[in-house]
Amino acid sequence: MKEIKHHLSEALLMAYSAGTLPEAFNLLVATHISMCDECRVRLEAFDTVGGALLDDAADNTSNVDFNATLRLIEGGPKDPIRFEHAKGVLPSVLQEYVGGDVDSVKWRSVGMGVRQAILKTSKEASVRLLHIPAGCAVPDHGHRGTELTLVLQGAFRDEEDRFDRGDVEIATEDLEHTPVAEPGEDCICLAATDAPLRFRSLIPRIAQPFLRI
Ligand code: ZN
Ligand code: ZN
Repeated sequence: MKEIKHHLSEALLMAYSAGTLPEAFNLLVATHISMCDECRVRLEAFDTVGGALLDDAADNTSNVDFNATLRLIEGGPKDPIRFEHAKGVLPSVLQEYVGGDVDSVKWRSVGMGVRQAILKTSKEASVRLLHIPAGCAVPDHGHRGTELTLVLQGAFRDEEDRFDRGDVEIATEDLEHTPVAEPGEDCICLAATDAPLRFRSLIPRIAQPFLRI
């Protein structure tokens, strides 16, 4: 596997550690962490700081129930994510959501050869799998909020850079881009958004309410 070049931001790791991200973002962050040694180490540092803060609270307050605090620490943060050599295309964190690997995904066409499958999560944000045929483009669009795109197979390129398996692109309101799958292999991505995308060309904009993108 190629070295991962595009990682999660500090802000995302911190929010994940604190448990304040919407489920859709949590899933994407957890999937990247299961693929990336570097971010897993950075996350452990945040988890340790979080635990130390709870310890401090226990030391400084005389009438605190220390055992309750311990229980909170033990029961609080999620299970540590272990590194897994993918046995398929989807890392196992994701396979639990899908109910299997890519062959279990219920794809729906979104036009121009691109297919998607929206995964069931809580409503504040949404997360989908995207299948982009080699050499094909996703319609260019802007973003009202934040869009995270994690590559699971193949690679794509846009105005910003090239993104390979394991890489995360973090797109915010000021980015308008046209992701294009690199030739040679179909690109499969996991994309999480906290607001609907703004499409520039008319047809995707009309289709948008129906496609829920
Ligand atoms: Zn990383
Ligand atoms: Zn985008």
